[in-house]
Amino acid sequence: MSLVLTDVTLTYPDGGARLTALDSVSLTVPAGSLTAVIGPSGSGKSSLLAVAATLIAPDSGRVVIDGTDIARRSRAALTALRRTTVGTVFQQPNLLPSLTAAEQLQVMAHLDGRSPRKAAARARDLLAAVGLADQAGRRPHQLSGGQRQRINIARALMNDPAVLLVDEPTSALDHERGAAVLDLLTTLTRQRGTATVLVTHDRAHLDAVDEVAEVQDGRLTSRAGAAR
Ligand code: ADP
Ligand code: MG
Repeated sequence: MSLVLTDVTLTYPDGGARLTALDSVSLTVPAGSLTAVIGPSGSGKSSLLAVAATLIAPDSGRVVIDGTDIARRSRAALTALRRTTVGTVFQQPNLLPSLTAAEQLQVMAHLDGRSPRKAAARARDLLAAVGLADQAGRRPHQLSGGQRQRINIARALMNDPAVLLVDEPTSALDHERGAAVLDLLTTLTRQRGTATVLVTHDRAHLDAVDEVAEVQDGRLTSRAGAAR
């Protein structure tokens, strides 16, 4: 129940050459803990999440998700693994404008073939867990940016993922709402036992996370337990 990256190197084509986005990155995130990956724009943070989400195969190195070495898996198996084991929260919530908060979550379970009644109950529980029990019937335009990001987080938890990957969730939020989202992610990580990676370019709100890793030009340059 963890995420382990070992010596992961990822390059992209760049004219005739290759651009190294990740350079021998190793990172272990145990279940129930939150690692923040910080670094400037272009340092490789989103690439790290894409590799951890099995969306991009690295040039070399190992990615082990919840005990599964993804290199040995077929595309179909990886699609299944993503659906059952990985939750992703991207910077922009990408909620469907015509659906209510509860329906945004239920859609995930329909894709998975779960019963509508179970999906509705789980959606209710998760909306309560992110503090939106009384907003279940609202549509995105009736919610604030912070509330939409909470729905985004609740949606990523619908499949009870072992690994939760979060890309700059606070960048569109003011300081107070950003702190509240970080607080929520820390709480959910402990309660649900996810191995959580949060990438951000800003050091604010990181007091309560378990580890802070810094990435620069594709290399993890420092890794320190946060002051707790
Ligand atoms: P961050 O999320 O920290 O801003 P990224 O992982 O998005 O960084 O990008 C790391 C480096 O890889 C940057 O130099 C970026 O321009 C480059 N890059 C990212 N995605 C691609 C891609 N699909 N093709 C080519 N280069 C890319
Ligand atoms: Mg990015």
